Amino acid sequence: MNDLKNMKLDVRTPSAAPAPLIDAHIHVDSYPPEQQELLLASLADSSVEAVIAVSMHLASSRANLRLSERFPGLVRPAFGFHPEQPLPSQAELDLLFDWMDKHVEHMVAVGEVGLPYYNRLEALERGVSFDLAPYIELLERFVRFAGKHNKPIVLHAVYEDADIACDLLERHGVTQAHFHWFKGSAATTERMARNDYYVSFTPDLLYEDEIRSLATRYPSGQVMAETDGPWPFEGPFAEQQTHPRMTAEVIRAYSRLTGQDETAVRQLFYDNTKRFYALSAF
Ligand SMILES: [Zn+2]
Repeated sequence: MNDLKNMKLDVRTPSAAPAPLIDAHIHVDSYPPEQQELLLASLADSSVEAVIAVSMHLASSRANLRLSERFPGLVRPAFGFHPEQPLPSQAELDLLFDWMDKHVEHMVAVGEVGLPYYNRLEALERGVSFDLAPYIELLERFVRFAGKHNKPIVLHAVYEDADIACDLLERHGVTQAHFHWFKGSAATTERMARNDYYVSFTPDLLYEDEIRSLATRYPSGQVMAETDGPWPFEGPFAEQQTHPRMTAEVIRAYSRLTGQDETAVRQLFYDNTKRFYALSAF
């Protein structure tokens, strides 16, 4: 059935190129240094127009800013502090926020920020207590920053943590929220969809039932594709270095799952990502 649809489309628009790809979430600066420029230089050959380069902390934010200067338009940096790591001192966090204030016009978004679901789970499994409160406090500070500067916010917040993130976003009137690689309950998913938040699918959309189910339920106007590279994937991607071109496979999987034409879905993902990150405005 899909083949028939594609054939029809080919007849109608024989020379139209598919929409470009945008990787909505990747840690470019976490690739080995010698591979970062190679990866970025290879994007044009894979029809990748841009990547949203999220940051782990201040040094990572600085590195992504430098990459965005070397590859203008291609690397769209987001600055923040990844929650799955120990918190630095208040003074170090103040430095990060001061730096973000100074570079606010260079950032497409605040991120990656959120709550440490996996670290907390691991601590609890080891019988070690885990204090979530300072992470919630820090996330609220990032939410306020995003609201003040009218920036989208990139969230690592899964399962019950997503509800805490929703509470903070709602409290501060922040509506431009992207829950990357989201997993969570039906109730949370409905709340996020209602609030016009976005989600993105990684290459595990090809083989993870939980993610495949989400893809069929979430509003198609609020979805994007990402790799979270250099995070490695399984299934058909086993042993491969994660590359933004894999978002094409994510889009193909989504089109099959939802029974829509692949070219149309590729355009949809492109439009969604451009709109969410206001990429035309930069
Ligand atoms: Zn990430």
